Amino acid sequence: ELANRMAERGADLVKKLFEQGEMVTVNQTIDQDTAELLVEDFGHKVKRVSDADVELGLSRSEDDEASLQPRPPVVTIMGHVDHGKTSLLDALRGTDVTRGEAGGITQHIGAYQVTPKNSGPITFLDTPGHQAFSEMRARGANVTDIVVLVVAADDGLMPQTIEAINHTKAAGVPMIVAINKMDKEGADPTQVRTRLLEHEVIVEEMSGDVQDVEVSALKKQNLDKLIEAINLQAELLELKANPDRDAEATVVEAKLDKGRGPVATVLVNKGTLRRGDIFVVGAQQGKVRALVDEHGKQVKEAGPAKPVEVLGLSGVPMAGDTLTVVENERRAAEVAEYRAEQLKKKRLATAPTSVDAMFGALADKTEEYPVVVKGDVQGSVEAIVSALHEISTDDIKVRVLHSGVGAITESDVTLAAASGAPIYGFNVRPNANARQAAEKQGSELRYYDVIYDLIDETKAAMAGQLGPER
Ligand code: GDP
Repeated sequence: ELANRMAERGADLVKKLFEQGEMVTVNQTIDQDTAELLVEDFGHKVKRVSDADVELGLSRSEDDEASLQPRPPVVTIMGHVDHGKTSLLDALRGTDVTRGEAGGITQHIGAYQVTPKNSGPITFLDTPGHQAFSEMRARGANVTDIVVLVVAADDGLMPQTIEAINHTKAAGVPMIVAINKMDKEGADPTQVRTRLLEHEVIVEEMSGDVQDVEVSALKKQNLDKLIEAINLQAELLELKANPDRDAEATVVEAKLDKGRGPVATVLVNKGTLRRGDIFVVGAQQGKVRALVDEHGKQVKEAGPAKPVEVLGLSGVPMAGDTLTVVENERRAAEVAEYRAEQLKKKRLATAPTSVDAMFGALADKTEEYPVVVKGDVQGSVEAIVSALHEISTDDIKVRVLHSGVGAITESDVTLAAASGAPIYGFNVRPNANARQAAEKQGSELRYYDVIYDLIDETKAAMAGQLGPER
């Protein structure tokens, strides 16, 4: 099974285990630690689901190819403050042709779906910004298919633009650049494109493969072009899901509503969620009492990529939690209770993440050593980054997720946590929020004042990650 999932030969795995002194046959069960080492030996990445899910048998096999059907893309909008993220989300909301003036007023539920002219449905997460994006990712939830990076043409690349680029890259999510505020005097889209080159974002206009669209969210100009770009990117991604199974969904927002009790907005990843379904979500359970869409209308069911509010939960889950439909209430109670117990035990809240199959995220990749670097002056940050790149080998590469001047911030921590990367502070320390976040998310903070020490320790850590064979 493990060999299959890695697309390797079973015999090769057995051989490797023999070499390490483990006498096993191809059908034998091996423990998790051994499996993990083996997976890494073969150059793949391990994705652990929570032990609770494994023990309770919640991990499900992947859907077979024939059951998959196209699904709408899920888009997140990022960019610097005041560059027009909210305006663009509002403008895009207005492109929906399926709903006339008579339709319900759109409410904020964390995500909405629109069907623009000449387009299929598109789902937008309407909590813009990279903080929420990386927080979800840190919890194992990758719901975003495409990032739209908004850059104001009159303001150009700003610190949060660069952060957004780095977060997007770290997540491996394709990007579309929306150059906004084109109606303004002083709009300079060429400068935006040129500056993007410095961050290895090469737009089509510059002969690269990142789509760029000039828009005005205010004047609602070129929204159709942006939608076209999203659809083109979505087509390349061949987004598919099996709608005919019990639903699995991701919580994008949750709250305690005065009148309605605990409410969670979820995005269905696979399957179809229906009224009456019994489910577990994080350490909570429930039975779907009602599904409400972004217009406040009750719907009977929600298929893949369809955002809905779920009513009928026992408590408020967390954004990033996975909702899994189970066969009956007894089972739901059992799983929820087990998870609650586990959570209590692990006071360091490394909460359960995804119920994807354990090795669902296996991917062929050269080994990487991700880091985030913050320093007191530009010169040392540059020197550190270039020295780090130099110690990359054929077996393992340093990947600087983000580097910059200044204190270690909460945003640095979420970015690092999402990739399990340490954060290096060169003559800088974290601020209070960042310190708390690092503690909560279990991120490693390392402080240096000598570049040589930083490099030396990194080399040792990289060798440790590779293990003794290489
Ligand atoms: P956010 O902080 O990125 O969400 O930015 P907002 O959407 O709140 O926009 C910030 C300001 O820029 C607001 O005053 C908007 O009216 C303005 N703005 C947004 N898009 C445009 C645009 O295309 N043209 C012009 N002239 N102003 C815009």
